Amino acid sequence: MQNSDFSSASSRLTVDLAALADNWRMMNERSGRARAAAVLKGNAYGLGVMQAAPALYAAGARDFFVASVEEGAELRPLVPEGRVYVLAGMWPGNEALFFENDLVPIINSQEQLAYFMAALSERGDHPCVLHVDTGMNRLGLSPEEALRLVHDPVRPASFSPVLVMSHLACADDPGHPMNRHQLQRFREVTAFFEGVPASLANSGGVFLGEDYHFDLTRPGIAVYGGEAVDGDVNPMKPVVIAEARIVQIRTVPSGESASYGASVRFGRDSRIATVAIGYADGYHRSVSGGGVTLRQAMPSGAFGFLHGRKVPHVGRVTMDLSLFDVTDLPESTVRAGDYIELFGRNIPIDDVARAGGTIGYELLTSLGRRYHRTYVGGA
Ligand SMILES: *Cc1c(COP(=O)(O)O)cnc(C)c1O
Repeated sequence: MQNSDFSSASSRLTVDLAALADNWRMMNERSGRARAAAVLKGNAYGLGVMQAAPALYAAGARDFFVASVEEGAELRPLVPEGRVYVLAGMWPGNEALFFENDLVPIINSQEQLAYFMAALSERGDHPCVLHVDTGMNRLGLSPEEALRLVHDPVRPASFSPVLVMSHLACADDPGHPMNRHQLQRFREVTAFFEGVPASLANSGGVFLGEDYHFDLTRPGIAVYGGEAVDGDVNPMKPVVIAEARIVQIRTVPSGESASYGASVRFGRDSRIATVAIGYADGYHRSVSGGGVTLRQAMPSGAFGFLHGRKVPHVGRVTMDLSLFDVTDLPESTVRAGDYIELFGRNIPIDDVARAGGTIGYELLTSLGRRYHRTYVGGA
């Protein structure tokens, strides 16, 4: 065992930028006559905005959504001709960053509208997006407030939103009545804003069909290879492969237990691989094979993939280490130092997420810093 080599990459993340670009193109095509934006909030869903943004820009994306003005300032130089929209919008004290970096604030409330109007009268014209709530009840003006705005006689002439948007609450569940309800309300709103481009669909919304596309779609998770529609076959290419090394292999006699809480007991002589991945890496404790409350609701924990076979996680995920049962693999094939896939090409990220009672979005955005990251397929 070469120790230095070993510790330098005990876990690794491979991000496939060609797959990322292909996924964006696919979402753009699926958006029909609408244009697809790309959502880059949360450091590009944990994958790294510095690498993801140029790949998406090269693929043709020109509209980008980020959460905060700081994310927007970081993104700006990476997408020179792109339009960068900031979901959190403008607050007192950060107006200058919008003007200096050519960022488009999204107006989510009456207060933000007032700040924006004040900033306009001080600094001159600037584009904005009007966010109207159609049922999510998180951010956005109510449809009534939006209507009042249209008819507001004191509204500055320079106030002209470049986009009217809303956000779907249930797009991952195509049969949910909320989808049509929100669509209906959004149509009522867009009717007030004739000639202003409109945007409603996130990834799930793109798959809901043409009615939901309007002028601009806002796919995020699907571009990163995650499941946009709950439980459906995922048509996207996997973008991220997470792997970690086996640090040792132990033989555990039948009747013995392992892990904290003695949370797994073996009914046969077993070979157990101790792997350098834990909850400090964002491999959540809730995906444990056993010994966590969630297993009472869902019997199966996460699986890894090793030498052509799925191997179950056993016991509890600990901070830095996890155990996988490799008894069913031929003894000669499994060695300390081998990489086991945690998710990627063979284990869908959403399967791991489901085992942990969460969603792919959360697994991606909690990927830890210890992974050695490699980007492949870039322009
Ligand atoms: C995060 C977000 C999206 C992207 O959603 P996905 O489900 O990842 O496609 C789109 N619009 C808004 C307002 C968002 O906050």
